[in-house]
Amino acid sequence: MIRARSMVDLKVDQDGKLLLKDFTNDEFTCECGCGLGICDRLKTFAQRLRDQFGWPLVISSGVRCPTVNAAVGGVPDSCHLIGHAFDCYFPGQMNEAVINQMADDAISQEIGVIRYPNQLFCHFQFPPRNQIID
Ligand SMILES: [Zn+2]
Repeated sequence: MIRARSMVDLKVDQDGKLLLKDFTNDEFTCECGCGLGICDRLKTFAQRLRDQFGWPLVISSGVRCPTVNAAVGGVPDSCHLIGHAFDCYFPGQMNEAVINQMADDAISQEIGVIRYPNQLFCHFQFPPRNQIID
């Protein structure tokens, strides 16, 4: 059986930051420009989703420093604050079945998921959890 790690080609840049085939590091860092970045395991999982579904994946929210987290209404102990969460969606492809497939894949990788079937996106994080928010 092929495991996730071997499906994703791992490369690093000069600074040792993980480089992905279909994403730049900017897509995961805090939108205010403070430079906070996400953990490599979640970046790798984003690439895994991209590869498995074959559609462009939009990272709608990656890391959030406290200022940005407060501005977007994130909970005070959000995993986004420490680079242990990202929100994402496949433009034009999201429905309950796709969301459930994304969630199943996360669970298989011991990654936490919160499904938002009405807002048509998924939140992935550490530590593992499995939740649906209407
Ligand atoms: Zn910031």
